[in-house]
Amino acid sequence: MEYDSNNIFAKILRHEIPCNKIYEDDFALSFHDINPQAPVHVLVIPKGPYVSMTDFTRDASREEIDGLFRAIGAVVSKLNLEKDGYRILTNTGIHGGQEVPHLHFHIFAGKRLGRMLVN
Ligand code: 5GP
Repeated sequence: MEYDSNNIFAKILRHEIPCNKIYEDDFALSFHDINPQAPVHVLVIPKGPYVSMTDFTRDASREEIDGLFRAIGAVVSKLNLEKDGYRILTNTGIHGGQEVPHLHFHIFAGKRLGRMLVN
């Protein structure tokens, strides 16, 4: 899928739409999800124009890949999620239920999250 620079996260990255920011560095931005599905529900996105893990792992530089994963760790630390635990999820494409076509990692925490998939 080709990257659509009009997606909502691209607009957040361009500061055209506000977000409740948690963390930012040269490679990644993290902010609270607008419609939280758990007591803690945050998103971590790369700053580059990637739709999914497919194009990200194919086209991103080592610095971008390193930066994104380190940012996820930094957010977990900043929110003190390590002790009680958390879940990371990336929806991709139609079957994955992806709504925003800019790669993002959901981090859920703050309660026992139950089964991994609800059928
Ligand atoms: P997806 O279904 O693509 O994995 O997840 C997209 C997520 O982005 C959803 O959890 C949705 O609530 C969140 N979202 C959509 N629009 C906005 C927005 O404008 N601001 C923020 N902070 N989150 C958004």
